[in-house]
Amino acid sequence: MSKAWRLVGADGNSYDSDRPGALGGHRRSRIYGRLDCRAALQAIARGGYVKNRVFFLNQTDARAAGYRPCAVCLPQDYARWKMQQDQAAASR
Ligand SMILES: [Zn+2]
Repeated sequence: MSKAWRLVGADGNSYDSDRPGALGGHRRSRIYGRLDCRAALQAIARGGYVKNRVFFLNQTDARAAGYRPCAVCLPQDYARWKMQQDQAAASR
């Protein structure tokens, strides 16, 4: 079995997977989103994004690794994440 895909796991560390990642992410800004995300593709086209590009097997891993949903391609997930952030801030 070949491990052709470099993904980021739930612990935030990279590992080699035999399955491709379903989600892309940006290591510096800690955002994850769809592979065909319009905002991500624009950033890639401008350059500078690719070296920070990471991939996740699924959303569970992305969240566990400390990434947040992209507002452009995952608006519902982003809204839910934002609400949780606001609630956490209010209870502090
Ligand atoms: Zn996106």
